[in-house]
Amino acid sequence: MSETVIVNAGWLIDGTGGPVRKNIRLRIENGIIRSISDSESVDFRKDRVIDFGSDTILPCLIDSHVHLCMSGTDDPVAREKQLGAGFDEIKGLISEHIKRHLSYGVLAVRDGGDRYAHALRYRNEYIDIKKMQIGIRVAGRAWHRAGRYGGLIGRPPQENYSLAEVIQTDPEEKDHIKIVNSGLNSLKEFGKETLPQFSVEELSDVVKIALKCGRRVMVHANGKKPVVVALEAGCDSIEHGFFMGAENLKIMAEKGIVWVPTACTMKAYAEHMKPGSVEHEVSRMNLDHQLEQISKARELGVTVALGTDAGSIGVHHGSAVIEELKLLITAGYSLPEAVKSSSKNGADLLGINDFGILASGKPATFLAVKGDPSKLPASLSAIQAIYINGTPASGRLK
Ligand SMILES: [Zn+2]
Repeated sequence: MSETVIVNAGWLIDGTGGPVRKNIRLRIENGIIRSISDSESVDFRKDRVIDFGSDTILPCLIDSHVHLCMSGTDDPVAREKQLGAGFDEIKGLISEHIKRHLSYGVLAVRDGGDRYAHALRYRNEYIDIKKMQIGIRVAGRAWHRAGRYGGLIGRPPQENYSLAEVIQTDPEEKDHIKIVNSGLNSLKEFGKETLPQFSVEELSDVVKIALKCGRRVMVHANGKKPVVVALEAGCDSIEHGFFMGAENLKIMAEKGIVWVPTACTMKAYAEHMKPGSVEHEVSRMNLDHQLEQISKARELGVTVALGTDAGSIGVHHGSAVIEELKLLITAGYSLPEAVKSSSKNGADLLGINDFGILASGKPATFLAVKGDPSKLPASLSAIQAIYINGTPASGRLK
């Protein structure tokens, strides 16, 4: 006999970006949502009712840019230790980070790479992951040009081999290919650009290989030139994209290329720099500029997927999602639009069909947070319940 459950929701954000709905009932059969309707229209007397009448229901969230091997610590000794750690030393920290994501309602993450591909090994081997029910997509080691930025999260191609050649013969079973195509943002000089690390031709060859093996290409790129090279090559997403400019945003809107702005990294820098210092001032200005770009992206219809770069200085796994949602809202997103960037847009980018939106025919995988939607995103820090395929998962979070 099939089990039917009615979930009574005070408010519903369905992940499509549409308006918040009030007093909603979801009918769930065998873990699948069968209908979503106004509370008056459902005869639920014979069914089991789960009451979230004072709470807001929303889809589970996705962080599309994290580094599971690094915590957000600002202690340079601890950071150095994490960067050099072997798998046995780091696997406990990865488990801890995954638990933190779950406790904030983040049920899938996309890892942007680490020096020794520990996150990839963890995804492949570590048994706890199956109990945790979190979706993990990994890049393994990223690729950067020899002598340029990227050694913290990857490696350059071996001498005398092209980028495409080393990627084609790379045995790592990664989910996506991560390319570093610019430097970091300067905290000393506002808007200072670095040159692209690779050419359009080099990246186009990577995209061809990626298409053949069904992988997507995520590109770390700040500044106009590094971004336009990645866009011309047909890469799938631009990571960070500080100072990319309106022309690049227009191309992204036209081509449907996803942007993961990671604005909270710059907010964290600003908070960690000494007030009155050049770095403090420049990181504040960098953040304001990024928020203007996000506002422009919204206006142009660029698909933005929420990513935090958790593991960067001051950017903590799990809680950073609240910070990034707040920044999207500051930049002009409505709450449902901001949620969509972390639910539907993240699910599409990671290729996870079960997540993203709450609709008839979709799995009943959702979060319940206390109170009305005005409490979001802060209320993600005290989630009432997480349901996965119609079953409460909260017990796993302890
Ligand atoms: Zn990153």
